[in-house]
Amino acid sequence: MIQRIFIGVAWPYANGPLHLGHIAGAYLPADIFARYHRMKGNEVLMVSGSDQHGTPITIRAEQEGMEPSEIATRYHTQFLKSWQELGISFDLFTRTGTDNHARVAQDIFLKLLDRGYIYKDSMSQPYCLKCQRFLPDRYIEGACPHCSSIKARGDQCDECGRTLDPDDLIEPFCRFCEGKPKMRETEHFYFRLDAFQEDLEEYVEKKEFWRPNVKNFTMNWLREGLRRRPVTRDMEWGIDIPIPGYESKRIYVWFEAVMGYFTCSKEYWRRRAAAASSRFMKMNG
Ligand SMILES: [Zn+2]
Ligand SMILES: [Zn+2]
Repeated sequence: MIQRIFIGVAWPYANGPLHLGHIAGAYLPADIFARYHRMKGNEVLMVSGSDQHGTPITIRAEQEGMEPSEIATRYHTQFLKSWQELGISFDLFTRTGTDNHARVAQDIFLKLLDRGYIYKDSMSQPYCLKCQRFLPDRYIEGACPHCSSIKARGDQCDECGRTLDPDDLIEPFCRFCEGKPKMRETEHFYFRLDAFQEDLEEYVEKKEFWRPNVKNFTMNWLREGLRRRPVTRDMEWGIDIPIPGYESKRIYVWFEAVMGYFTCSKEYWRRRAAAASSRFMKMNG
C-alpha cells in the first residue's frame, strides 16, 4: 500500500547563512528520509521555507542600513543555492513573505478569533522614549529572572532556554540606546495556548515512536503548565493583522512561521493543480 509521507523540515531563519550544523542536523537527515520513501514508491511531500519575519531580521537590517526585505531576500537566495548545490530534494522551498502564506495565516488568525481562542487585551509594554518606539522581543535586554544570565532578551533567555516576556527582565534596557524603558499601555491579541493543555498532553502521551528525550522534554514543558501568549507585536515588519485599526502592529513571527508547514503544502498543491490544468488545456486544444 502506498503511504503518504509528509516531511516538514525546520524553516531556516533568514538572518544569517547556513552552516554545517544546519545541514547535518536538519536538512540531510530529512532528505535521506524523503529519498528512501520515494524509492519505496510512497507519496512524499517535503516542504520548508525561509522564516523571514521578527526582530532578529529588523535588528540586522538596522545595523546594516538596509530594508528587512533585502536581508530576507539575501539569505533566501543563498538557501536556495545551497539546496541546489547539495541536492536537497525539497518538493517546495518557499518563504513566509509570500502572499499565500500571509493569506492563509490571516485566515487561521481570524478563525481562532472567531472561536474565542484569540482575544484582545491591553498590556503594558516597554517603550523607549528616546527611540520613540515600543521594544518588542529582541529590542530589549536585561537579566534573566530564572538563571543568573545578564544577557537575556525580551523573548527568551539563551542561557537557560526559557521563554520570557519583556516585563520578566530585571534591569531592562533598550538594545539601541541602552536607555531605561518606560512601561506604556498597548492593545494586543492573545492566544489561549492553555486551552489546548489536555489535548496536547494526550497527543504527546500517545507518541510511542518519538525519541524518549524529545518526549520527556515536551512532557516536562507541558507539566509546567501552558500559558496564554500575546501573538501580535508593535512593529512594521511582518504579516498584517487582518482587522482594521491595528495597522501599526503585526502577527508575531513565532505564531505565523509554524503555520508555514500548512501554508506551504497548500501552495504546493495549488501549483500542481495549475500545472495539471494547463496540460489538460493544451491537450484539448
Ligand atoms: Zn535564564
Ligand atoms: Zn532606545
